[in-house]
Amino acid sequence: MTLPEIREIVVNIAYLVAAVLFIFGLKGLSHPRTAVRANLMGAAGMFIAVVVTLLDQHIIGYLWIAVGIVIGSAIGAWLATSTPMTNMPQMVALLNGFGGGASIFVAGAALIEALTIVTDGTPDVVYDTNLQFTIATALSGLIGGVTLTGSLVAYGKLEGFVKDLRMGAQQAIMAILFLATIGLSVWLVIDPNQIAYWAIVGIACVLGVLLVIAIGGADMPVVIALLNSYSGLAAAATGFVITNNVLIITGSLVGASGIILSTIMCKAMNRSLTNVLFGVWVATDSGPSADEVYGGKVKSASAEELAMLLDGVGRVVVVPGFGMAVAQAQHAVRDLANLLESRGTEVEFAIHPVAGRMPGHMNVLLAEADIPYEKLKEMDEINPTFDQVDVVIVIGANDVVNPEARTNPQSPIAGMPILDVDKARSVIVVKRSLSPGFAGIPNPLFAAENTQMFFADAKKGIVELASAIKEG
Ligand code: NDP
Repeated sequence: MTLPEIREIVVNIAYLVAAVLFIFGLKGLSHPRTAVRANLMGAAGMFIAVVVTLLDQHIIGYLWIAVGIVIGSAIGAWLATSTPMTNMPQMVALLNGFGGGASIFVAGAALIEALTIVTDGTPDVVYDTNLQFTIATALSGLIGGVTLTGSLVAYGKLEGFVKDLRMGAQQAIMAILFLATIGLSVWLVIDPNQIAYWAIVGIACVLGVLLVIAIGGADMPVVIALLNSYSGLAAAATGFVITNNVLIITGSLVGASGIILSTIMCKAMNRSLTNVLFGVWVATDSGPSADEVYGGKVKSASAEELAMLLDGVGRVVVVPGFGMAVAQAQHAVRDLANLLESRGTEVEFAIHPVAGRMPGHMNVLLAEADIPYEKLKEMDEINPTFDQVDVVIVIGANDVVNPEARTNPQSPIAGMPILDVDKARSVIVVKRSLSPGFAGIPNPLFAAENTQMFFADAKKGIVELASAIKEG
């Protein structure tokens, strides 16, 4: 056996070990008890993959790799320390986009390399423009382009500076553009050339914008999960371009888990994946104005009044939402729950699958505050029991408790299952004002007969409420 052959075997065994660690890591992440160990397994797998890839590198010198690591780490460290927790979803959207961008450039560089070698006749042939190479290159450009710009638009929407834009012929334009990328891909496969590749990338970038810009507020969680999946698929395609097994495996894992997450989110939002995938949106009207919904009907209460309401009640359900994350109120919420429990009240937490701004957002925050996992109830489990709940405390949640989703088929959130808190005996809503949530629509819950608004920052309000209970 020659030295290069032995090297290849060792590399592939190391990649296999890394892949096994990734798979067991993913499995472990499905439960909070095993999640920390699973994270370590994933990190160990990535460490092995990176070290082996660096040792196995053929083309780029270590100097360039070191330059990349230094620049990338500096930007990464700055972003990680300067981004507040509430902006994590935007950060995830950006990272998905960069994954797509990286795939574009790696596949593009490999194509340039392959074409240069063919014309120069350089002996050290690394890439061959065979069928696998060209098809995978076309796919990298297509999926990478859609992921890059789609994620940037998603980032803009989450930051609030990009608004929904719907044009009449959007689907038709997207279909034509998609067909154009297929035509260009065929050209790239038959006659490998750079023009076809960069044209695919350009059109895919436009497609990415069109795909995400039309998607309404309530569907954004699905889009983010989907873009995550696309970034994995782009990476897997690039793995075929540069024939790197570990990239194919990790890309496929990200792609598959992203699709599974998208399906779960679709189920939670009562949307069909194909509709979201092809940018089909529900017809919406502007709906009732805030004045029509709230005019003269909203009751607000003080901490002391609410403390009296909570005195001696049997069952309380807390519904956390994005506002709890903004205020970082999770520790105050835990203290309030402990206080109520010490006074004989049963306290549970109702978790909506899209509460906050990323999948699992509320679970992460509540776990950080050491709230036992058994107290967290999924929507399907808790919804049938709301009519037996004495008081629901909604903390910075809005869209996920908006009854419009059930009652108004024209609403942007129509059909999205919500937490049926309006069925409880009393509802307390802690938020700063009557401002809308992510979907931008008024919420009739705030004007309901059994609702009292507690206008306050979530953290300050909950601390105030707990002191009022103690003093009362
Ligand atoms: P919403 O976005 O509907 O509402 C959040 C509310 O929090 C606002 O109305 C705001 O009101 C209040 N708030 C903000 N800051 C504070 C604060 N400091 N203290 C108290 N309240 C505060 O949140 P939900 O969690 O109910 O719903 C999530 C929405 O986000 C859904 O529409 C979902 O589709 C969407 N989304 C979810 C994603 C996910 O993966 N989970 C991803 C992308 C979008 P006020 O300003 O009056 O205080």
